[in-house]
Amino acid sequence: MAYQSINPYSNEVLKTYPDATDAELEQALAAGDKLYHQWRNDPVSTRAPYLKKVADLLRAEKQELATIMTKEMGKLLSEAEGEVDLCASIVDYYADHAVELLKPVPLKTDAGNAYYAKQATGVIFAVEPWNFPLYQIVRVFAPNFMVGNPMILKHASNTPGSAVAFDKLVQKAGAPAGSFKNLFVSYDQVAKAIADPRITGVALTGSERGGSSVAKVAGENLKKSTMELGGNDAFIVLDDADFDSVKKVSPQARLYNAGQVCTSSKRFIVTAKYYDEFLENLKAGFAAVKPGDPLDKETTLAPLSSQRAKEKLVDQVKKAVAAGAKVYYGNEPIDLPGQFFPPTILTDVTKDNPIYNEEMFGPVAVVYKVENDAEAIALANDSSYGLGGSVFSTDPRHAAYVAEQIETGMSFVNSGWLSLPELPFGGVKNSGYGRELSDLGLNAFVNEHLVINA
Ligand code: NAP
Repeated sequence: MAYQSINPYSNEVLKTYPDATDAELEQALAAGDKLYHQWRNDPVSTRAPYLKKVADLLRAEKQELATIMTKEMGKLLSEAEGEVDLCASIVDYYADHAVELLKPVPLKTDAGNAYYAKQATGVIFAVEPWNFPLYQIVRVFAPNFMVGNPMILKHASNTPGSAVAFDKLVQKAGAPAGSFKNLFVSYDQVAKAIADPRITGVALTGSERGGSSVAKVAGENLKKSTMELGGNDAFIVLDDADFDSVKKVSPQARLYNAGQVCTSSKRFIVTAKYYDEFLENLKAGFAAVKPGDPLDKETTLAPLSSQRAKEKLVDQVKKAVAAGAKVYYGNEPIDLPGQFFPPTILTDVTKDNPIYNEEMFGPVAVVYKVENDAEAIALANDSSYGLGGSVFSTDPRHAAYVAEQIETGMSFVNSGWLSLPELPFGGVKNSGYGRELSDLGLNAFVNEHLVINA
């Protein structure tokens, strides 16, 4: 396995990193376990100052961190800067709120005085993807740090520079040895670590395939896991939508991060009333982008993260068209050496089309016309995924009704997807299980320890 940073804009190999040895893995497990036992005796509040320092450093080093991400996975620099800001706000959130959120919970019972304490369980093993190289780390790191669960990270093989940068930042913040360790481990070493008794929880964000392999190992070893997997989110435009807001939001809901977001809007389900106008507007939004160097502030379309990512998307669109999909806009190669894929709109995707139920991880929108709410809901739910989705309606009750009919973990009314420290993030069906962020994410790897004095 090669951990390598390759700039997807210039195709230049930036750096290759050495694989972790078994001895390094053992060292990380031992250090994490030692700290867990020490942390068990320390009040939660003693950990907050370290996270405050991590948040300060994230803000202070925003430019360097954003540049590392942009260079190794291609996202626009402005988006990378936004990601660092979001990370700092997540870290602050847990530093500020965990003491309150982790208080013992009194229980009502006639059997005696009862409560449950929220206790740490041990070292958490996190497997993370490349699309938000820092945010994905922080979603697991910050809550577990406050709980008292140290973390070992296996990051994506194409974003090792971001992993190293975060590891250095945590050290610079003075966090105790063993609290966080990035390791360039192989899949076999991941399985070995998960089987180790010192690992008590496994968090993965990634594809269904990666998720099911890692969840299988976790299950075999009776380790609790959270799986944040892919999505094929619907963006539903109802008859009573505010179309001006739909027009404003829809292009970016697909194009942000070059379309490589698990909760990007991927299937646009539009009532007949707005269908033609919607297509025209989406096309105008897609046509307005400027591909180029993602470090250049003028660029508005970034390359995809890797050659492999581009080849996969090219193949999916080819298969879709061969099966009868129509290219309403795009699908013309961009004449630049980087891994660019043109913003593309497909229509006439039928149920037997191979991409009907596939996640397309890039700037490709599939647009469907529906006659009414029932059709929109049925189409949105006809997916093996269940991550998020958007509903546009000016009537809050109507919007809430439709949103609640959709089988997903998150619904965004009158907006594209969003992620905030205090809101839970996660899905159902093949989009995985468990939640990150909010109090739910904080409690993901907590032992709810019942104490009853009968
Ligand atoms: P991926 O191939 O599953 O990779 C994700 C991570 O899992 C990487 O670190 C990868 O390592 C590792 N991995 C994969 N198979 C493994 C195995 N058998 N054992 C140990 N580690 C393994 O996912 P991707 O395609 O790069 O990432 C994009 C996917 O992530 C999309 O489907 C996207 O929707 C999803 N995603 C979901 C969320 C969410 O919160 N629900 C957020 C962001 C992204 P290597 O890089 O070394 O292969």
